[in-house]
Amino acid sequence: MNIKELVRKNILSLKPYVAARHSHTSGILLDANENSLGSTYEDSHNLKLNRYPDPYQKELRVALSELISIPTENLFFGVGSDEIIDLLIRIFCEPEKDSIIICEPTYGMYRVCADINNIQVINVPLNNEFNIEKDELLAAVNENSKLMFLCSPNNPTANMLSREKILSVASSVNCVIVVDEAYIDFADESGFHQEAAELDNLVVIRTFSKAWGLAGVRCGYSVASKFITELLFRVKAPYNMNTLTSNAVVNAIKNKSQRDYFVKLIKKEKDRVADILKSNQKILSIAKSDSNFISFKVNQPKEVFTYLEKNGIVIRDRSNQLNFSGYLRVTIGTKEENDLFLLKLSEILK
Ligand code: PMP
Repeated sequence: MNIKELVRKNILSLKPYVAARHSHTSGILLDANENSLGSTYEDSHNLKLNRYPDPYQKELRVALSELISIPTENLFFGVGSDEIIDLLIRIFCEPEKDSIIICEPTYGMYRVCADINNIQVINVPLNNEFNIEKDELLAAVNENSKLMFLCSPNNPTANMLSREKILSVASSVNCVIVVDEAYIDFADESGFHQEAAELDNLVVIRTFSKAWGLAGVRCGYSVASKFITELLFRVKAPYNMNTLTSNAVVNAIKNKSQRDYFVKLIKKEKDRVADILKSNQKILSIAKSDSNFISFKVNQPKEVFTYLEKNGIVIRDRSNQLNFSGYLRVTIGTKEENDLFLLKLSEILK
């Protein structure tokens, strides 16, 4: 496969904008129309917020490289992994001509980003076990299919997709496979980051929004070949990662033991909540979870959702999703939050 042929021609020939901080970061900086006098933000960390941030994301990439043992040249950061989904679509898909492949029920942003960019969506639904079917995926791919989004662990079904099937599909298709591993920290298997750095057509995207507890700072990353990583740098806004976010994430990486503690606790709570849900006869099915949430099926999802909402407990109604009727999704919270959820649920499902 020649990956270059999958890239939009205008992106291959694009002359990216060269921002001031691409070329100079020290000296008497009178090049970017910043405020040399200082910043209005009371900054105890001396982050120099009056200056534009590093367009190369160097500190972030070095910190992540040490964390996951992947060279910096394979790493890219986005404003949440949502930004990277959009950038990949814009790099590979020609509006009104190309398509992406998705496997619903899955994360809704793939379809929305495709719609925004006027890209066709081909849906190859997950099977009854919420897993992918290789033959169906291969049959769906055509010469205009440029990206395939496989979410593992999948949102909202909660389970990992088969590792063997993903690798087998990746080696059989002429398109880029994007494995969305937003929830991988909660899974027992490791993800595809090593393979993504080595294979031409595999990209992994991850986020600091879940296990790391940093949804508010907006930071996601990709692991991909050097070629795809360079394309991402080419199309991103020059200063997409801001100094406050970078500082927060670099600090958080130093605090990995806290992430490990959160993951352990959330998994333990998840098992406890799942066991209690299993004992409720009114719950028709509980999907196997490799993530930080549980999806469960009931007869009247809207009624259950509304009862919980009225009692101040907000979960997600996913029952309108294709092949997911009846399912509600609950995120594992603190023990107290989970107990309240279970109590109110038992009142409506008695
Ligand atoms: N992928 C999946 C599967 C998700 O569930 C989410 C958030 N809900 C994201 C990506 C986006 O995460 P973020 O933009 O916060 O990194």
